[in-house]
Amino acid sequence: MARNLDPKCRQCRREGEKLFLKGEKCFTDKCAIERRAYAPGQHGQRSGQRMSGYGVQLREKQKIRRLYGVLERQFRKVYAEADRRRGQTGENLLQLLEGRLDAVAYRMGFGVSRAESRQIVRHNGVLVNGQRVNIPSYNVRPGDVIEVTEAVRGTLRVKAALEAAESRGFPEWIEVDVKAGKGVFKAYPQRSELPATLNEGLVVELYSR
Ligand code: SF4
Repeated sequence: MARNLDPKCRQCRREGEKLFLKGEKCFTDKCAIERRAYAPGQHGQRSGQRMSGYGVQLREKQKIRRLYGVLERQFRKVYAEADRRRGQTGENLLQLLEGRLDAVAYRMGFGVSRAESRQIVRHNGVLVNGQRVNIPSYNVRPGDVIEVTEAVRGTLRVKAALEAAESRGFPEWIEVDVKAGKGVFKAYPQRSELPATLNEGLVVELYSR
């Protein structure tokens, strides 16, 4: 299965903001954005270069895609579904991305990062309504119960991830029982519950060109 193997901190530096791709390190002063908040590469520190409208739209799309760890082809598919659904395409897009099983597993604290949560899903560590599901892009529906298997729940890594997520607080749209390693995806998140730094309208503009 294809995945993005680009160095994670480099991806954040390219987008100019923290995408929280590395787990606990992202919350410390070792974060590369805290230390070198400029684009990677030889010309990364050049200033004064203005981006075209297309460039701005492209960067925003790349940022959202990298944040959720989705490759271009799959991102396009999610976008097509968002466009097909009723309501605002941009908001639908973010809701569909948050409804992916790997994203829900991350929000519930099963892994310290999206990549780790995705790996737990891939390795048969997650149940949806009691059934094993190992497809990271699986579409979780409101009301679904997501849990880690007993074997995975016992691992120190998952315990530590759950505790760290609990200490930071869970988002409104999910409910998690940390001890049981189990949670409910109550609803798709409202736009106001998602980061204001995301500008999904630019993705819509880009794909509507
Ligand atoms: Fe991004 Fe985390 Fe690396 Fe910071 S530590 S640059 S937030 S991946």
